[in-house]
Amino acid sequence: MITNKNFGEIPQSYLFSEVAERVRRFEQQHPDARVLRLGIGDVTRPLAPAIVEALHSAVDEQAAAASFQGYGPETGYGFLREAIAAGEYAAIGVDVSPDEVFVGDGSKSDSANIQELFADSARVAVTDPVYPVYVDSNAMAGRLGTFDGDRWSNLSYIPCDDSNDYRPALPEEPVELIYLCSPNNPTGTTMSREDLEAWVAYARKTGAVILFDVAYRAFITGDDVPRSIYEIEGADEVAIEFGSFSKTAGFTGLRCSWTVVPKKLQRDGVSLHTMWLRRQSTKFNGTPYIVQRAAEATYSPAGREQVRADVEYYLANARLIRETLENAGVKAVGGEHSPYVWFRCPAGMDSWEFFDALLEQAQIVGTPGVGFGPTGAGHFRLSAFNTAEATQEAAGRLAELLPKLAS
Ligand code: PLP
Repeated sequence: MITNKNFGEIPQSYLFSEVAERVRRFEQQHPDARVLRLGIGDVTRPLAPAIVEALHSAVDEQAAAASFQGYGPETGYGFLREAIAAGEYAAIGVDVSPDEVFVGDGSKSDSANIQELFADSARVAVTDPVYPVYVDSNAMAGRLGTFDGDRWSNLSYIPCDDSNDYRPALPEEPVELIYLCSPNNPTGTTMSREDLEAWVAYARKTGAVILFDVAYRAFITGDDVPRSIYEIEGADEVAIEFGSFSKTAGFTGLRCSWTVVPKKLQRDGVSLHTMWLRRQSTKFNGTPYIVQRAAEATYSPAGREQVRADVEYYLANARLIRETLENAGVKAVGGEHSPYVWFRCPAGMDSWEFFDALLEQAQIVGTPGVGFGPTGAGHFRLSAFNTAEATQEAAGRLAELLPKLAS
């Protein structure tokens, strides 16, 4: 056998193809229906003017021999590593040095690739429901055992739902790699300083490594919710952090992200920073120069203001979705520091029953929670990434539909 047998264990990514298929069928049968898409995890606002200006000027640089850039450093250009260290970390009182910042082409790739630094036998824990990339990347590496249609045999699931206020409990069994995400996809909930302190203390005691995903950190409002795990003392000896320009500044198409691997983070006497550097310089040839210049522009005074305005736009949509649900008696989480709103399906429906009811009776598309893991069953995710107009129309339709479903 010459193929990777681990792929055979992985279920097809059924969720988004099934959603697309059901919507396609519905639209074919109801050609006049105005279907509103509140399932999307992609941004819809165009790039901010400061970003577009930086792109244009970087393209002009590429057109002249004197300023042309070919292969860049695999770790990212110094100007962007410095801008990230200053704009994301020094700005919140956290000391991350520019050479601990690795510029990448998306947190999807970095959060999927990071597991290569760890032993095949490393025991993995994820919060449940979860961003599926953490699970599938470890499954491809053969770390998760067998899949029974619901769960992997060698994966520790940490359930998060209203019974524990969406606060992941420290694992009882020993685990070595822990994926945490705050603000969370799909639930939109955040981890408090106290929660993070407990996780950092746990990792310091057990030697586990925390893989902390802050792809949605730009949506955090106020000062109570930590924006980085390195706000917690001692986290630089136990945690790797993934950040992204995708949701912050509309880079889902441009592609730019960063990963912090602190120099102090060592296991088995080996520096994980050195390992990641080795891994990236072997397998990655850098994010395009023009894209890194565009990312840098998000930290200019004008850039900051413009990307903030886009985040506020989505947050207003998120608040409206959550308020609409709650006014109809559906308890929801998220939407405050996140573009996602998450809730238990009304009237005891399962995720797909509610999906069909929403599509057929209100022509709204959402995301069935069961696609994010076993604890997502019976839950649903709505996203704020559509336009304000579409979100307002969807809110009106939801306000009409929900009381009907409950009666
Ligand atoms: N992490 C989480 C939790 C996400 O939801 C996403 C995208 O949806 C990503 C990472 C990937 O982001 P990127 O576009 O930087 O690859």
